[in-house]
Amino acid sequence: MELTANALRVLRARYLLKDADGRVVETPAEMFGRIARTVAAVEPRYGGDTARWEERFFELVSDLRFLPNSPTIMNAGKPSGQLAACFVLPVEDSMQGIFDTLKNAALILQSGGGTGFSFSRLRPRADIVRSTGGIASGPVSFMKIYNTATDVIKQGGARRGANMGILRVDHPDVLDFIRVKRAAAELANFNISVAATDAFMTAVLDDREYGLVNPRTGREAGRLRAREVFAEIATSAWESGDPGLVFIDRINAANPTPLLGPFESTNPCGEQPLLPYEACVLGSLDLSRFVREGEIDRTLLSADIRTAVRFLDDTIDASVYPLPAIEAMHTGNRKIGLGVMGWADTLILLGIPYNHRRAFALARETMRFVSDTARAASAALAGERGAFPNFGGSIYDGPGMPRLRNATVTTIAPTGTLATIADCSSGIEPLFAVAYKRLVLDTELSEVSRHFVRMARERGFYSEELMREVERRGSVGRVTGVPAEVKRLFRTALEIPPEDHIEMQAAFQEFTDNAVSKTINLPRRATPQEVERAFLRAYARGCKGITVFRYGSKRGTLVKFADVD
Ligand code: UDP
Repeated sequence: MELTANALRVLRARYLLKDADGRVVETPAEMFGRIARTVAAVEPRYGGDTARWEERFFELVSDLRFLPNSPTIMNAGKPSGQLAACFVLPVEDSMQGIFDTLKNAALILQSGGGTGFSFSRLRPRADIVRSTGGIASGPVSFMKIYNTATDVIKQGGARRGANMGILRVDHPDVLDFIRVKRAAAELANFNISVAATDAFMTAVLDDREYGLVNPRTGREAGRLRAREVFAEIATSAWESGDPGLVFIDRINAANPTPLLGPFESTNPCGEQPLLPYEACVLGSLDLSRFVREGEIDRTLLSADIRTAVRFLDDTIDASVYPLPAIEAMHTGNRKIGLGVMGWADTLILLGIPYNHRRAFALARETMRFVSDTARAASAALAGERGAFPNFGGSIYDGPGMPRLRNATVTTIAPTGTLATIADCSSGIEPLFAVAYKRLVLDTELSEVSRHFVRMARERGFYSEELMREVERRGSVGRVTGVPAEVKRLFRTALEIPPEDHIEMQAAFQEFTDNAVSKTINLPRRATPQEVERAFLRAYARGCKGITVFRYGSKRGTLVKFADVD
């Protein structure tokens, strides 16, 4: 098994089983065996052969061609074996509701999952509280309580607690919400996003006012000029990376089960819209491991997609759920999110620069193939096992439509840890740097593109000195001795214009059921107006949301590069 030193460090720190004294008691091979065994153990329920599937699953994950989301790797086979990464919980407008959900969120956090919440149903600050005759403190104040609770809980949990907090753009407290993370230490355990409606986006484009609505009464509670609110969002995002935008009406237009209610929120990193109490298991194929003789090997990829879909569907039954309501929703819709990672590495291996028009075309072609194959696999599973229980009344329930085992099949995850385990570039992101140091699970890892090192050796321009220079600068654009075509191939996130980042996100989104995790990187010198332009472009190009990050802005830029500004 070809695991890097970084992968081993991450596995030892958090993934391999430990005894009561904290000593690691399994090898990585045993870990992959534990995952394959636990997931394949549900096969007999559907007449499947455990031994056969255990072997297939083991081969797939131990070869690092596919990895399930972190909770599956950490928790498979444990009594508390919660296996999904993504959850959404509802926040009702009552003390009981707010604190019941906080308790439930604590249980999810403890199990290694991340939770998204919409705070849009909470009455605004200074609204009346009939039972006490007092005044309400508003959504932002309750988010602060959730944030503090996360701080306390995460110390006992397996990883940093991630939360998403959403507020609709027509909530009366929206300006407080937009500005809350400008203060560096505020809501550190939250990513926040404004749920932008189509009505709002149209009002921005037409430079009109739009109405705010008090969720308690359903009545209009004031009007704001859309462009002023939009500029506030862009300024906050420019300063701190938060908030992002989620295009909530577009997300709901793709809701596969509208009879069960609308989406209000996504999971923490934005790639997975979910209904209240819904969960999703994710898994990612490392596309760079499918490159053979200058192209993506579709025969191997197709076989692996089918195995991965079966693996993820089995995972739903193998998981131990933190709440009965979540179990009911997840086993009712059976959402899975198969995605890809190692995309930048794949392009490097194919000799295509990340923002070349051929790269965008290949992104569409490849994701279309993943999506079609995964959906066919889900339909085949429905033949064996039945369609997902809430299939009736879903958008797939029509004459001539195939029955599906899963309400969604594809999602592009960030793969923050999975990419380190598989030693590939993260998700569909360009290389962040050719060589750099970064913090993973509190340890500093030195990350170097192995493809760059190999190419440098093959072409004879490798030297220790050159590598030190690459690490100092972060990118190779200005490093002497690197041939021009290699420079084009190893363009990093900050050397790629924001519109090309968005184009790649849009290319993958077109063929993804759920959403796409992507950070739109901007140089330090970018202006708030450029952030506005990026927002508008993401909306125009069909993205389901957007997150920007300006180099050097407040949200802890951990890495300093000589060549980047
Ligand atoms: N997540 C989380 N805590 C973390 C990282 C991730 O709860 O520290 C959840 C969150 O819902 C996120 C999802 O896992 O959107 C997928 O993240 P990623 O792909 O980075 O996770 P990995 O499986 O690589 O650890």
